[in-house]
Amino acid sequence: MNDIRALDRRHLWHPYTQAQTAPEPLEILSGRGATLYGADGKEYLDLVSSWWVNLHGHAHPAIVRAISEQAARLEQVIFADFTHAPAVELAARLVEKFGRLPGDKLSRVFYSDDGSTAVEVALKASLQYWRNVEGAATRRTRIVAFEGAYHGDTFGAMAAGARSGFFDAFGPKLFDVEFLPFPATFDGDAEVEQKERAALDALERLIARRGAELAAAIVEPLVQGASGMRFCRPRFLSAFAERLTASGALLICDEVMTGFGRTGTLFASEQAALSPDFMTLSKGLTGGYLPLSVTACKESIYQAFLGPSFSRALAHGHSFTANPLGCAAALGSLALFESERSLERVAKIERLHRERMARLAKLPRVTSPRVLGAIASFDVKTEGPGYDAAVGRALKERFYSRGLLIRPMGSNVYLLPPYCITDEELHRAYDALEEAMVEPCAS
Ligand code: PMP
Repeated sequence: MNDIRALDRRHLWHPYTQAQTAPEPLEILSGRGATLYGADGKEYLDLVSSWWVNLHGHAHPAIVRAISEQAARLEQVIFADFTHAPAVELAARLVEKFGRLPGDKLSRVFYSDDGSTAVEVALKASLQYWRNVEGAATRRTRIVAFEGAYHGDTFGAMAAGARSGFFDAFGPKLFDVEFLPFPATFDGDAEVEQKERAALDALERLIARRGAELAAAIVEPLVQGASGMRFCRPRFLSAFAERLTASGALLICDEVMTGFGRTGTLFASEQAALSPDFMTLSKGLTGGYLPLSVTACKESIYQAFLGPSFSRALAHGHSFTANPLGCAAALGSLALFESERSLERVAKIERLHRERMARLAKLPRVTSPRVLGAIASFDVKTEGPGYDAAVGRALKERFYSRGLLIRPMGSNVYLLPPYCITDEELHRAYDALEEAMVEPCAS
């Protein structure tokens, strides 16, 4: 065992890991394109974009240059009382991109550090919005979310994802959220209309019961990521948003995972013609190079925080709010969208996904196949929930040993590659998936 692994074992606490049973972490020395180079001399094809963050590939010279040039100029400055060009230019570029969405535009950008904090800001700002507009006695204090949603690991974000199963230890400390059924669907789903009707009926009932108490609903547009790449149809989301907005509640689109092309359009909200009051972005915002996030909101929301006294202001901020290096990386990443025609690359990935998933779907252990943009996903038939985790673990080890970073979530298997991936690389991943799905045992 080399020094790094020995020291890691002695001093590190890894995220979402049961260290007692987990295998040794793999040490990565460097990355290039879709490939990670391990200290074990092996190459790993990054088919999960390193937890859904990487867009254009690892160590892309253009983003590396943007970060290093910015670092030589200004690495960080307090963002209260001060401002700087990378933060302002990035906000202006993003607002331009939000122009693809209908209705009143998202025109204001609040920076924070990661997906969870972006969600905290959206939740806090939506609650304070109603207090600012209606006074301290406002009844609009309830948050609505979908069952199976995941919005992050901080307390507010956990409350909105309480049904994901990750947060049982904190249950009593999480504020009450109104959960609605999520009509998860897949190719050839005969029951989708029924599920969507049930979800919309549940929303109608909630509005009838508590419409005047709803502050905001938070949704992961089109794809619930962490609960197993669960898709819903754009038309469902449109109908949901229409009813919700008519009740007066605000709409928060959490595009932390779906943003920046993952679903085929720059934002998933575009496909359902959503007009969110807030949008949260992180992960791919910087191309996956540095932690940075955005909570964007409409002008009318921002205006409700103005006034002569501080009490109306949003009392929120982080040490690294609007970090110039993160903003420079994000500007570099957005420029690559144009120069590398990233959305066309996503369309090409989607075509290959569809071709290979059609083949994969014929295998008896594969169920609920689904493809959207750069995301392809299916579930493995198991003997029950107890077997899900075991199947996921066995598959993961099998893929890692073949040099493929494919990391199932329980019995859900998905590919979410960076946009620089080649056809040959993607075919290699599908060949391994097919092989794993024809063998009787997952390991
Ligand atoms: N929202 C969504 C939709 C996410 O998928 C995630 C992370 N997977 C988060 C929020 C939280 O982001 P972070 O891990 O950067 O805090």
